[in-house]
Amino acid sequence: MKKYFTFIGPIAAGKGTQAEIISKKYGFLHLSTGQIFRDAIASGSELGMKVKSIIDSGFLVPDALTNEIVKDMLGKIDLSKGFILDGYPRTINQVHALDDMLSELGIELDDAVMITIPEDEIVRRISGRFSCAKCGQNYHDEFNKTKIAGVCDNCGSHDFIRRNDDKPEVIKTRLQHYYSEVEPIVEFYKKQEKFLKLEATNLSIEEVTNKLEELLF
Ligand code: AMP
Repeated sequence: MKKYFTFIGPIAAGKGTQAEIISKKYGFLHLSTGQIFRDAIASGSELGMKVKSIIDSGFLVPDALTNEIVKDMLGKIDLSKGFILDGYPRTINQVHALDDMLSELGIELDDAVMITIPEDEIVRRISGRFSCAKCGQNYHDEFNKTKIAGVCDNCGSHDFIRRNDDKPEVIKTRLQHYYSEVEPIVEFYKKQEKFLKLEATNLSIEEVTNKLEELLF
């Protein structure tokens, strides 16, 4: 199956987790701009040095740079696999840029899927997030623990990391950016009849995956 989706929604609503699960299950590519930036920071590349302070303080990376990274990535991947964009587009400028990129590539987005949870839940979820330092597998202290404490289920590593931008003071800034940008994005995809919304409050990861599959396929 070849499908092209973007997962939008506030931080910690489960976009990344669900994009990872659905991509693995259906063979799609999981394209996360946040992960590209985090990898760049970890490798100490020029891009990483440019974006580190922006990301650590909870701001958005400028559109021109983000669009360039995505364009470059879309030009290199195997589009026949289908993809899920995770965390892009995040501004109306990025929405238009993506639209142009996809037309140039001769493909069309199937759906823009918004996964939402209320703000108090966001803060609760973010406080417990961590991931494997080696393979990047995501976990949570409360909702998504490793099977064996201190050992990654996926690769067996004992090293875990917590994101700098998941600190409470930075979360507030990230949420403000989200709420100020999201409305025109939703309107754009509604007009194109590509907008889908999933309310994920009080649902387990598995329940959200099931609901998403019903919505998407
Ligand atoms: P995420 O992992 O999607 O929560 O992204 C982490 C951080 O990377 C964000 O807070 C932004 O600073 C940056 N970032 C990720 N995606 C984008 C984007 N589409 N536009 C601008 N900045 C982004």
